Amino acid sequence: MGDSSIETTGGAGAFGAGGDSTPTERELRDRLETTWAGARDGLWDWDVAADLLRLSPRWKEIVGYGPDEIPDRSEEWFRRVHPRDLDEFKRSLDALLAGRSPELRSEFRMLHKDGSWRWILCHGSKHGGRELVAGSITDVTGLKQRENEVLIAAFHDPLTGLPNRRLFLDRLQSSLTRQQARGTRPLAVLHLDLDRFHTVNDSLGVDAGDELLVEVTQRITSLLRLGDTLARVGGDKFAILLDGVANLEEATGFADEVVAMLRRPLRVAGTEVFASGSLGIALSHEGEERPEDLLRNALTAMHLAKEDGATPWEVFDPGMNEEARERMLLETDLYQATKNGEFLLHYQPIIDFRTGELAAFEALVRWQHPDRGLIRPDLFVSIAEDTGLILPMGNWVLREACRQMREWRDRYPASSNVRVAVNLSARQLEDTDLVAEVEAALADTGLDPDGLDLEVTESSLMARTRENKATLHALRDLGIKLHIDDFGTGYSSLAHLQSFPVDCLKVDRSFVNGMEFEEGKAEIVRTVLALARTLGMEVVAEGIETEAALEMLRSLECEHGQGYFFSSPLDGESAAAWLDRPPRW
Ligand code: C2E
Ligand code: MG
Ligand code: MG
Repeated sequence: MGDSSIETTGGAGAFGAGGDSTPTERELRDRLETTWAGARDGLWDWDVAADLLRLSPRWKEIVGYGPDEIPDRSEEWFRRVHPRDLDEFKRSLDALLAGRSPELRSEFRMLHKDGSWRWILCHGSKHGGRELVAGSITDVTGLKQRENEVLIAAFHDPLTGLPNRRLFLDRLQSSLTRQQARGTRPLAVLHLDLDRFHTVNDSLGVDAGDELLVEVTQRITSLLRLGDTLARVGGDKFAILLDGVANLEEATGFADEVVAMLRRPLRVAGTEVFASGSLGIALSHEGEERPEDLLRNALTAMHLAKEDGATPWEVFDPGMNEEARERMLLETDLYQATKNGEFLLHYQPIIDFRTGELAAFEALVRWQHPDRGLIRPDLFVSIAEDTGLILPMGNWVLREACRQMREWRDRYPASSNVRVAVNLSARQLEDTDLVAEVEAALADTGLDPDGLDLEVTESSLMARTRENKATLHALRDLGIKLHIDDFGTGYSSLAHLQSFPVDCLKVDRSFVNGMEFEEGKAEIVRTVLALARTLGMEVVAEGIETEAALEMLRSLECEHGQGYFFSSPLDGESAAAWLDRPPRW
């Protein structure tokens, strides 16, 4: 159909034509006329062949006019349709007239008398073989608005108004498609995670947290170029799409800017706070990636940036996925391990230099994995901490170490003063049940409290000093000795250190190992020893691997030592052999 077929001038409508009629026909007509005048929808009919259009009063009212204000002419209709929608409407009409479609259903905007655009849903059908069409129009503006709102809600974060994850992935997909088609510059996807956001929420309240997020949103938005997208993809997580970067440096440069901008102090809830964040960066290659993969890669890199803490951002490389995958597999297996009792303990001797005798064994957990064999703790303790499995695992370690030491003390009376040292993780230290569990472990196994040492790392001790001090005092009251592990690797506040009821500092092996060659290390060991003297504590040197190191430590009057020079960690049987025939150093 050409446009000419619908460009008619008006006249009397098909239903309005006069003529003879039987009473029933008249009744029918009356009813039709009532409908015509009173229907909620606007009605229309149009004899296309004769070019006669009729519009009901309601039809005219929908666009703001009285019955006589608009002539019944098709051009009056068409000129009110939004230019962007007119083509589509005419095409639908054409399909109906040509018999290609059984009915007309079209949505378009029409200009209201007040100058606003109204969304109109238009229905129509063809009657008989003649080019007679009739139908209705409905004002669906309100519906459209709600639809729009739903659409906005489905794709946007209500707090910041930013696109959400779904919309971000959608835009990323469009950019990737464009990159693939036109070979444009690579895209950079950045994943930003605010550090310690929950502390703002906890200490200043949720409203303050919201304020912070809005402020951060505004600051990052100010750094974006046209075409870039910032989205909120989680509570304190943002994703940024840089739609085309010249090279990696441009992306890392942007990350630096974000970091610098976050560091500027901001005021929320009347308090000055400093935000900081970790970023992961992933670049697209020829647009071949799936958007989800790119975002996940950026997330993986962000996690690594957060973990190592050396730089605020990290660039994704495929090896990281391997690491993340590996970690996920181990995590799944670790749940099983806890249920199936796949842990065991190895024991590393700690020597008392003053007597040359075995003073204690440090209990070190191992995981007997059904497929992978024996796994060392550096590979799974942090996973256990992240998942909370550290609590059941740590409790098992504690009980098993106490049980074993009690059994050894009974079996080897000559070694009945040897102790066992158990490592506690930060999560265990925070656990309100800890003291009761230690007490129960001692009571149930019958180990004397002087047979148990507990090792807590310097960093976990200094994290929640007030709570930790109370816990340590309660443990000390049970008669247990407390050691600070990996001393020198964290940041101790001397004031706190002095007030903790600690018996012993374990100098981290990174200072002991090689102290005979490196004056800097020897100096640190000397300083720790001097500090321990002042505080009335003893010292264990970890990681002694050579006789030279041992001699130096002895001459510095260090009290205890442990390391491969004496023995690597031993399985239960080999440890028992030490107790049976105690060596003397
Ligand atoms: P840590 O408590 O500092 O334990 C000492 C680690 O140093 C042990 O590694 C030990 O095998 C290693 N080591 C001992 N002597 C030497 C030496 O001369 N040279 C070198 N290079 N290394 C030496 P391991 O058994 O792999 O344990 C690593 C860490 O895992 C432990 O460090 C501890 O932080 C943690 N861990 C081990 N068992 C447990 C546990 O039951 N619970 C908790 N929470 N953490 C544990
Ligand atoms: Mg330890
Ligand atoms: Mg240590």
